[in-house]
Amino acid sequence: GKTFDNDSVAVIGLGRFGSAVADSLTSMGHEVLGIDSNSANVQQWVDQLTHVAQADATDIRALRQLGVDQFRHVVVSIGTDLEASVLTVLALQELGVPDIWAKALSKRHGLILERTGAHHVVYPETSMGERVAHLVTGKMFEFI
Ligand code: ATP
Repeated sequence: GKTFDNDSVAVIGLGRFGSAVADSLTSMGHEVLGIDSNSANVQQWVDQLTHVAQADATDIRALRQLGVDQFRHVVVSIGTDLEASVLTVLALQELGVPDIWAKALSKRHGLILERTGAHHVVYPETSMGERVAHLVTGKMFEFI
């Protein structure tokens, strides 16, 4: 099968957030393996990413077959399906992936992901909300 270099990143879940992460990494020159259980999402990214695969990421054997256990960096961008999010992080932890990033929709969701083995938990909506608040107040000076 295809071998990826050390700077490669596997992105699981190619929704709005995951596809933006995968697309940005590709633009930055990184090889990206995109994985999604939905075939339409996989088809949509087949030309843009280095490699895409349709698979259920909660299935540890499927992940191993795709070589995800060889990646140093994996980003889990499954939000709405809490069970799939947690089981995917657990599978990656069991595979020994050394740098697991995971998206959470709430603080409690993030806490579960940390305890399940995620090394970094991101809260896209909360973080962007805080950023916009800072940007808005920063711009206020221009109106004084
Ligand atoms: P966004 O806001 O980024 O679109 P979301 O959290 O609202 O994300 P979800 O539907 O929860 O969207 O998850 C994002 C993607 O993860 C979807 O494209 C979905 O098909 C995929 N996904 C969900 N479960 C699994 C799974 N078990 N294995 C692989 N991919 C999955």
